[in-house]
Amino acid sequence: MTLTELQTSLLECQRCRLASGRTQVVFGTGNPHATIMFVGEAPGFYEDKQGEPFVGAAGKLLNELLGSIGLSRSDIYIANVIKCRPPNNRDPQPDEVSTCKPFLLNQIQFIRPHLVCTLGNFATQTLLNTKVGISKVRGRAIPLPDFVVFPLFHPAAALHQGNLKALLVEDFQKLKDVLETMKQQLTDSPLPEPSSQTQEQSEPEAIQPIQMNLF
Ligand code: SF4
Repeated sequence: MTLTELQTSLLECQRCRLASGRTQVVFGTGNPHATIMFVGEAPGFYEDKQGEPFVGAAGKLLNELLGSIGLSRSDIYIANVIKCRPPNNRDPQPDEVSTCKPFLLNQIQFIRPHLVCTLGNFATQTLLNTKVGISKVRGRAIPLPDFVVFPLFHPAAALHQGNLKALLVEDFQKLKDVLETMKQQLTDSPLPEPSSQTQEQSEPEAIQPIQMNLF
């Protein structure tokens, strides 16, 4: 299966109760070969209508933050843990998470990012399998076997709590440093060339751990 085939296979997904209230499945968007991926919680009102994660005010702030470190949406891939909008933007329920999370893990497996930035408590706790709050782990590179997690406050939270915005801006500068260190390490020790097949055509492979001396 490819990333595109995974997306197609979810278009009519009815695996959990969120299917009944959605306008459409919001799978994810961006560069399918990105080295950096952003993961949020679940689609909101505008995402559900437009079919794209992080549109509206939070998306605009995210775009500005990306721009502040020389990135644009076309450089990254962005998705949510949950692919369908919960009613009235309520928190996703545990059974909805356990049903939908495997598709996020599939996306990560296809895209093979080196760095996954989790936006907010929910995505951070889901990917790190922890109950530790975002305030304790934000702005830190946390290595997992197959990629590095870099938790950040959710842009929507920063919009609603003014004091968080400065911290989010600060953490993006730390992210810039992490990316530069990572780039240097990859230049010094390049990963093996991919096979002649494009990633979209290839079967998913085991993700290679990256030696991140920084961590
Ligand atoms: S939230 Fe995920 S598991 Fe539930 S219906 Fe949507 S795509 Fe399927």
